[in-house]
Amino acid sequence: TKTDQKDIIFKSKLPDIFIPKHLPLHSYCFQNISDFNTRPCLINGSNNQIYTYSQVELISRKVASGLHKHGIKKNETIMILLPNCPEFVFAFLGASYIGAVSTTANPFFTSSEIIKQAKASKTKLIITEATNVPKFKDFSQENDIKIMCIDEQIEGCLHFSSVLENSDETTLPDVEIHPDDVVALPYSSGTTGLPKGVMLTHKGLVTSVAQQVDGDNPNLYMHKEDVVMCTLPLFHIYSMNSILLCGLRVGATILLMHKFEIVTFLELIQRFKVTIGPFVPPIVLAIAKSPVVDQFDLSSVRTVMSGAAPLGKELEDAVRAKFPNAKLGQGYGMTEAGPVLAMCLAFAKEPFPIKSGACGTVVRNAHMKIVDVETGASLPRNQSGEICIRGDQIMKGYLNDPEATERTIDKEGWLHTGDIGYIDDDDELFIVDRLKELIKYKGFQVAPAELEALLVTHPQISDAAVVPMKDEGAGEVPVAFVVTSSGFTTTEDEIKKFVSKQVIFYKRINRVFFVDSIPKSPSGKILRKDLRAKLADM
Ligand code: AMP
Repeated sequence: TKTDQKDIIFKSKLPDIFIPKHLPLHSYCFQNISDFNTRPCLINGSNNQIYTYSQVELISRKVASGLHKHGIKKNETIMILLPNCPEFVFAFLGASYIGAVSTTANPFFTSSEIIKQAKASKTKLIITEATNVPKFKDFSQENDIKIMCIDEQIEGCLHFSSVLENSDETTLPDVEIHPDDVVALPYSSGTTGLPKGVMLTHKGLVTSVAQQVDGDNPNLYMHKEDVVMCTLPLFHIYSMNSILLCGLRVGATILLMHKFEIVTFLELIQRFKVTIGPFVPPIVLAIAKSPVVDQFDLSSVRTVMSGAAPLGKELEDAVRAKFPNAKLGQGYGMTEAGPVLAMCLAFAKEPFPIKSGACGTVVRNAHMKIVDVETGASLPRNQSGEICIRGDQIMKGYLNDPEATERTIDKEGWLHTGDIGYIDDDDELFIVDRLKELIKYKGFQVAPAELEALLVTHPQISDAAVVPMKDEGAGEVPVAFVVTSSGFTTTEDEIKKFVSKQVIFYKRINRVFFVDSIPKSPSGKILRKDLRAKLADM
């Protein structure tokens, strides 16, 4: 039910800008490339190899042509199953050139997690490292999915060099890309249920990047003199968008780190004079706590940005002390929102003062409103409700799931985030709670529904519910309430092991509580709030 009252809509303090939404994503990213052709575009942090902008563009076109030769057509999907490395970037851009879609996944996923996503997304080709191949070799043979390795040559698999050496980048297929065509397909569980393919279009990503770095306030986030640390995984849209795509658009240098490790990380910042650090709270925590930090010169860093999960005030202060010349601020994203909803304006050319704990102000060319969870009525400033956003940057919908799409994007185009927050008198957004089921372990998504489905496949478990428990290092960890079948003999340890074998490390169940029944609403929905309250009382 919605009241008749007119919506109270919040906008950015910055004026709207022109956004070239007609351009395909790769054309938009490289639109100004003549200004920085010879500048370093990518640095491979593993071996210090540098690729200039013109090299990255050329290689990406070769990959496009190569993918096409290997049979990938417009609107078909490839899976990029890689840590951060140059090949990741070439594959993503190459797919964009031919109108193909990249679905990205964590390379540490287990066999069943990879196969689930490959099936759901109808992946035609998987680009990965050799060590990963055994996880899905049989599956891909049975389903005629090609595998392309970037490192070792494996029998029965293609090799990345085949698309680099043999292809002629001038023979790109003549495809017409529509702004509403999908280019990226990350997976997210959204406000409820299992992970779903989030359809992000060329227009959506162009809009989102423009909202961050275009217009007459180019210092909002980054420029071509910047060196941006890319240690957050590119398979997550935060890194893909706010680091890689924004970096390419402005001509910045993107420093790719294969894997976060504190000493290497600090060495790289010092060696390459990194200026921008887009982080997540666990990385901020590592920097704040590590005694080795003081041995490195981090004075080049001018911007430290945290997103993907809440950053506490103590941590904010602790990290501020480590970066003498940096401004610190938060961003707020959600995969379905493209992903950036709000960003702090401390980095603008004429910066606005910002408050600790705020996660930014709404991006330009977008509308935000806060709605009462019970009535749906739109709320004024300083009142908490569900955060909703509208604009060209949001997803087109969930792949093959119109019902979940309708539940998330209403008829007026508002995306409902499942996050609770308020906007204060200075247009700053504060997130205060999470309405949705989602658990965030170090910024990684854990979907309770996925673990619940897995738990009830255990022969001695008849019902289960998974909720977040607060954790200092990870932010949150999943814990399970389980009902066992009569005459049970299973133990907490045994259940934990049962789950661990089948999921990536961050989805492992931290604690198991045996209960007589799972509290549910008359319609059968798990009353997660009750379980969370129970945990808080323990
Ligand atoms: P994902 O789709 O994986 O990016 O997860 C999105 C969710 O992460 C949001 O809906 C929020 O619940 C949470 N989140 C992202 N950024 C922040 C932030 N700055 N503060 C608090 N929570 C955040």
